[in-house]
Amino acid sequence: MKAKGKPSKQPGAKSSPEAGVGSGVGPFGPRGHARPLAGPSGHGAVLPGAGPRVAAEALAPAVHAPRLEGSAVDLDPVHSHGLGQQVLRTDVAGMPLEWIDYKEAVRLYHMDQVAYACGTPLFRLRGGTNAKSGLRTVVEVSSIIATIGHSSNPGTLRADYVPPLNNETLFKRDAYLCMYCGGRFPTQLLSREHIRPFCRGGLDVWTNVVTACRRCNNAKASRTPEEAGMQLLAVPFTPTYAEYIYLKGRRVLADQMEYLLAHFPRSSPLHVRIREWLQ
Ligand SMILES: [Zn+2]
Repeated sequence: MKAKGKPSKQPGAKSSPEAGVGSGVGPFGPRGHARPLAGPSGHGAVLPGAGPRVAAEALAPAVHAPRLEGSAVDLDPVHSHGLGQQVLRTDVAGMPLEWIDYKEAVRLYHMDQVAYACGTPLFRLRGGTNAKSGLRTVVEVSSIIATIGHSSNPGTLRADYVPPLNNETLFKRDAYLCMYCGGRFPTQLLSREHIRPFCRGGLDVWTNVVTACRRCNNAKASRTPEEAGMQLLAVPFTPTYAEYIYLKGRRVLADQMEYLLAHFPRSSPLHVRIREWLQ
């Protein structure tokens, strides 16, 4: 359990969730051309492409505090992080496992299942008063917590692990760019395009699908890219488990992003894509 006083001030916190989106960022190279991330590392920044920031109402104190064995508790978001801010849970070895909300994080702290924490403080929980010391306990929930316990990273348990495919993570994998014309579109104008057409035996798997705008998808129709004379801008890939955790993240903080990036394969196209978002 991490209990301490005031957290250090975080410089440079900024909120630009949509930075780069729609700003004419060009297409990126194929897998294997990854370069190291050169984006800002200021804690507290919300990365682009990770959805809008929670509205200020979410910070209002009307949120019910979690129950901790009869203690009167207060839960305050730290540094204007909304209570909707997700916490990255890892196993004790530091492998990313999942996103959890503050309630689950507090529960893990309370159950003494948090082996250690890293990242930045997100929420501060004030609990009961210690009978001996007379001091009120304060628990800080960090943006990344390593937990003991049973659940393990399926990506490390199974070498052939394939994360489930859905449009939300597919579009994010492709940086919301049409993989044919290179344009960036809002989600509602994007579609899942089967490179080898579904009706001609193409599989609905990560390596046979790309993000395409509706116009390109219609133009290609039930043809292969070669038949349609359309060129793919990037090779589709199956995300690793760490990459998938990133793709599923709603508002990924800079420190969480850095942490996840360190677990991506060196050749991950996401290194380049995320950096382009940040520019
Ligand atoms: Zn297009």
